[in-house]
Amino acid sequence: MSMIQIIKTIFIFFGPPGSGKGTQAEMVAKKYSIPRISTGDLLRDETKRKTKIGEEVEKIMARGKLVPEKIIKSLILNRINNKDAKKGFILDGYPRNMSQQNDLMRAISKEAKVSAALINVSDKEIKNRLGGRRMCACGATYHLKYNPPKKKGICDLCGNKLFIREDDKPSVISDRLKLYHREIAPILKYWKKNGGLIKIDGEQSIWAVQRGILKKLKS
Ligand code: AMP
Repeated sequence: MSMIQIIKTIFIFFGPPGSGKGTQAEMVAKKYSIPRISTGDLLRDETKRKTKIGEEVEKIMARGKLVPEKIIKSLILNRINNKDAKKGFILDGYPRNMSQQNDLMRAISKEAKVSAALINVSDKEIKNRLGGRRMCACGATYHLKYNPPKKKGICDLCGNKLFIREDDKPSVISDRLKLYHREIAPILKYWKKNGGLIKIDGEQSIWAVQRGILKKLKS
C-alpha cells in the first residue's frame, strides 16, 4: 500500500453491526468536514451497480461473511487516497480483522492523528434492533418498533414494499455477531495498548451517544 501524505485526522469507529456506528460516524464526519468511509457502503454500491466485484461479493454479504481481503484492500486504498480524504477521514466497518488493521497501519503516514472509538451495544439489543429493521429500495430505513412505517410493510416515502436485508435475517445476525466478537477482540486490544480506545455506551439516545463521542474525542 502506498503512503498518504497530508492526512491529519483519522477516526476509526468500532461496534457490532446495528450499534449505530454508521449514524454516529456520519455525524462526526459532518462536524469535522471529512468523509465517512464505510466498506459496507462501498461494497453495496458495487452490488447495486452490478460490477464484477459486486457479483463476486453479493452472496458472501448475504451470508454475513467477510469478503476477500484482496477486494477490500483495493476498494479502501482507492477510497482513502481520494482527494476529499486528504484532511482525514472516518472509517466505519474497517478494519475488521488484524490483517486489515496491519494493512491500514502501513497505509497511513506516521504523522496522522488516529483515534479509535468503540460503541458498545449488547448482543441482545443488537438482535432486537436488526431483527426489526425493514428497508426500502429507495434507501429509506424503518424499524417495526422504533420507527414503523405508517402502513404496514409499505414505504412512507415511495409506496414500495419494504424488505428485510438478507444479512438481517435472525440466523445471519447471530453469525455476524459471532464473527464480529472473534475478529474485533485483537484489534481492540491493539488500540487499548497503542493510542487508546474511546468507549461509549451505545444503548442511549443518538444524541447522547454523539455528545459522549465528541466529548471524549476532544479530551
Ligand atoms: P456493514 O454494512 O459494515 O455491516 O457490512 C456489510 C457486509 O459487507 C459485511 O457483513 C461483510 O460481508 C462486508 N464487509 C464490510 N466491510 C468489510 C470488511 N472490512 N472486510 C470484509 N468484509 C466486509
